[in-house]
Amino acid sequence: MSIEGPVVVSRKGQARVERGHPWVFRSDVLRDGGATPGAVVRVEGPRGEPLGFALWSSRSEIRLRMIERGERLPDGFWRARIERALEWRKTVATGAEAYRVVHGEGDGLPSLVVDRYGEHLSIQTLSQATERAKPEIVAALVELLSPAGIVERNDPRVRRLEGLEPAVSVLHGEVPETVEVAEGDVRLRADLRHGQKTGLFLDQRENHLAVRRYARGRALDCFTYDGGFALQMARQCDSVIAVDLSAESLERVKSNAARNGLGNVETRDANAFDLLRSLESAGERFDTIVLDPPAFAKSRDAVEKAVRGYKEINLRALKLLRPGGTLVTCSCSYHVHEDGFESILEAAAVDAGAAVTIVEKRRQARDHPVLLGVPETSYLKCFVLRRLF
Ligand code: SAH
Repeated sequence: MSIEGPVVVSRKGQARVERGHPWVFRSDVLRDGGATPGAVVRVEGPRGEPLGFALWSSRSEIRLRMIERGERLPDGFWRARIERALEWRKTVATGAEAYRVVHGEGDGLPSLVVDRYGEHLSIQTLSQATERAKPEIVAALVELLSPAGIVERNDPRVRRLEGLEPAVSVLHGEVPETVEVAEGDVRLRADLRHGQKTGLFLDQRENHLAVRRYARGRALDCFTYDGGFALQMARQCDSVIAVDLSAESLERVKSNAARNGLGNVETRDANAFDLLRSLESAGERFDTIVLDPPAFAKSRDAVEKAVRGYKEINLRALKLLRPGGTLVTCSCSYHVHEDGFESILEAAAVDAGAAVTIVEKRRQARDHPVLLGVPETSYLKCFVLRRLF
């Protein structure tokens, strides 16, 4: 790999890098050292202090993404770093068929995502540098995992900030319309070209399985998507109602249920806000409820409205819950932090007149590592609550 630069950063940029944050913004770059778009560069402080190596972007506000401290970047960086991430999955994704192999900054590979769906891989190269290194990355993945196919799901909007076009295409081998993978003892079909995220919500993998410990009786899964929670609960519960406003998702829930021989899953094509309210006024009750809405706060400005949304659905769910029942409630809004989410749940419990215990505070699956000091890498909250009375 040829290394360009050095890119010289300001004192503020240097302090940030030394505190361990992998990003340096445009305003903290003093000189680009002639780096070409997407180059791997040497990074220096204002007096030539060696700070390490980074991925360079000529377009994004995030100009540098650090990949190594010190004065040497080992040869074969991409392969070695991917191999290290893969090795760690033996510990945190033991036995899983569908899981995240590389989670960007959380694996020291900023702006690269690699998801594994059994024999197939889905990759996202979200900056100029990972886009430029794509041939090397694909070659490393082929060598390390011998996949039957690799698809690029390069349609996230963030690529625009890098001046990159959206692209969904097969980079290696063949990728069928849908692939079947197991999550625990439930088999799911994933559409690697069109599904949300890269096909499934892999960040909820461990939470899907954890819910099995609590699920019983009559269950409700709001915002079900392809039934990640609903089908796990169906193995355990008398009945499950799976709710989504995407009819297409509900078709997949039905076919996934049939594939698993689960006859106790009912789907409801509805807005969860309305349905929760009408179930409540009809006097319905549940033993287990899951709430896993899309991010209500996609930006900082949207937080206030998001807080109202989270409070509303949690309040309704607590009212629908029988004493002794479990509520598994999630938020994937990065801008609503864990303590903020806890306050929302507290307010919801007060308004519902319910005494509630916190059983577990969970987060994204461990194959989506959170980098210490980098709050941007922690986004998913998943609380398990129990209604006492
Ligand atoms: N629980 C899923 C992931 C949910 S993603 C899993 O673990 O795999 C969020 C889902 O909420 C999407 O499928 C989306 O269609 C649905 N959705 C968004 N707004 C909704 C609403 N107001 N009512 C019901 N479903 C909604």
